[in-house]
Amino acid sequence: MPDIRILDSHVADLIAAGEVVERPASVVKELMENAIDAGAAKVSVEIANGGMTLIRVSDDGCGIPADQLQRAFVRHATSKLRTEYDLEAIGTLGFRGEALAAIAAVARIRVTSRTADADLGAVLKLEGGVAGQVEEAGCPLGTEMEVRDLFFNTPARLKFMKKDAAEGAAVFGMVQRIALAHPEVSIKFVRDGRQELLTPGDGQLQSAVYAVMGRDFALGFVPVRGSGEDMTVTGFTTLPTCCKGSRNYQHFFVNGRYIKSRTMTAAVEEAYANRRMVGKFPGCVIHLQTGLNKVDVNVHPAKTEVKFLDERQVFSAVYHAVMAALDGEKQHPAAVMEKPKAHDTVTPNQIKFNATPIPKAEPKPVATSLPLHDFTAPKAAPVQKPAAPAPSRTAAPVSVTWTPPAEKPIPKVEAAPKAEPAPAPKVEAVPKAEPVVEVKEEPQEQPWKIAGELFDTYIIVQQGERALLIDKHAAHERMNFDRLKAEDYEPMVQQLLTPAVFTPAAQERQVLAENLTLLAKFGFEVEEFGSDALIVRQAPFDVGADDVVNTLTEIAAGLLTTGRADPSAARDHLLHTMACKAAIKGGWKSGPQELERVAKAVMDGSVKYCPHGRPVAIELTRKDLEKQFKRA
Ligand code: ADP
Ligand code: MG
Repeated sequence: MPDIRILDSHVADLIAAGEVVERPASVVKELMENAIDAGAAKVSVEIANGGMTLIRVSDDGCGIPADQLQRAFVRHATSKLRTEYDLEAIGTLGFRGEALAAIAAVARIRVTSRTADADLGAVLKLEGGVAGQVEEAGCPLGTEMEVRDLFFNTPARLKFMKKDAAEGAAVFGMVQRIALAHPEVSIKFVRDGRQELLTPGDGQLQSAVYAVMGRDFALGFVPVRGSGEDMTVTGFTTLPTCCKGSRNYQHFFVNGRYIKSRTMTAAVEEAYANRRMVGKFPGCVIHLQTGLNKVDVNVHPAKTEVKFLDERQVFSAVYHAVMAALDGEKQHPAAVMEKPKAHDTVTPNQIKFNATPIPKAEPKPVATSLPLHDFTAPKAAPVQKPAAPAPSRTAAPVSVTWTPPAEKPIPKVEAAPKAEPAPAPKVEAVPKAEPVVEVKEEPQEQPWKIAGELFDTYIIVQQGERALLIDKHAAHERMNFDRLKAEDYEPMVQQLLTPAVFTPAAQERQVLAENLTLLAKFGFEVEEFGSDALIVRQAPFDVGADDVVNTLTEIAAGLLTTGRADPSAARDHLLHTMACKAAIKGGWKSGPQELERVAKAVMDGSVKYCPHGRPVAIELTRKDLEKQFKRA
């Protein structure tokens, strides 16, 4: 018969530690959240070797009194909760009283801390959960937690750690998300002695977004604000034209806490239905503020998943706010900013702790009063778009008629990208018998002329007894494609005034890094930058300076879908993306020379299909028209 025993507390701690402390990033998360709960205005995070040998988080928060230092590391020790009722309205980031105990169980810790009413601070060392003596120490106001040699006593866990670079990247991702969650806190990140992030902490989400996501990406954002029943939604979302090849740029926060939420993801993507290209996903930073009792954060040890009391309300509020943002001035009735009702008040023990993670009842109109142009820094030289006035960013070329659904069931996230992108057919596989196209080589060249343009999209060419409608984007894309594909192609390049540094998803970064030579051949000077970022110093002239990062992300997505194993497919993918980027778009105004150039390429037979195999022109004869008008 097996003997049933109660685990001793050390083993219990190790098991609990396994849930909370999975890797360095989870330690950083807990320590940063503690610092923010402590009311810090500045939080600094420093790591070495991906956080495996050192994690140091310092804050200028309220500090821990010397006589409570040891207690803070006891399991279920917390200053943030007292009774079971407090669990129904959690207003702090932490509450389980587990993190410090869990971290201490699997690392060596040195903590120094001083509260405002103490002249001297205190220091305490712990190793594998065993605390030493508290000693006096001179130190600034606030707390510094130094965590060394993570998992030194749990070799099984240590085995599962990835390379330092990967762990460091996960830490950085975590720091970035917390920075986006708390624009009111200035957050600094230093990796192996190099500072990689500093947010101003001015309370403006826009500033945090700018610091974290970079100028180029931030330029493609529109502000989001709206409200539903007892909830407000604020943030930023990408213009449909700036959508990304993956969901890695979607960040959701509830009451200042970073979360993963299928409902919110679905709501955002649903707002883009019919506006974004298939296979593209909006990027966004969306903050939802709601009553503390409307959301249960106590469903997961890492607290990244939450349960909403009413998922449908959340869906509707987010959906309408994003819709309104995309529709510009036109406001949806449900998305009108209204003064939110006072949310649940903070309980006394939370006040004592000076915890302020819940945004004020009246959210500042985050950055929405600033026109997006305030973001603008000098750009590189205008891009070669002959005679075509660049379309205004806000005028998304895709125009869609859209009726807001009355009450929609929450779509599954998986269903959101509806049609998966059909793999672009190889150019070699161009269908021979396209229905209508066939630009016939006339026996004797008949003169042709441009008779006009329809919808800023189709060029009308008249030649003898026939007329052609040319899709200017498709034709131009093909012209670019052929030009890029030519044996002797020499890219025209632009040096970027400010080199673009960006942090793609790990996979994207890897596939780009594998293809640096190919990218260089087409004018991209890309280098690895730190362990998880890339820097672009030079780009092809065909790509708008502020579209460089986007383009590379798209290229990465293309390479990931099919191009990985097959170098020629990889090359074609890159050509497709570049050709499309460099092409004039349907809906753009084009000058006469531009129309002429495109029409000429079609009329002299050098362009028949777009690189995806779609026709570039359809033909109408005088006879067809006469039949339609019943003249014949
Ligand atoms: P929790 O955050 O869930 O309360 P933790 O184990 O993370 O549990 O922390 C235990 C307690 O230690 C907290 O409740 C808080 O009182 C104190 N504490 C931890 N970190 C800090 C900090 N950086 N500044 C002030 N107090 C802190
Ligand atoms: Mg905590």
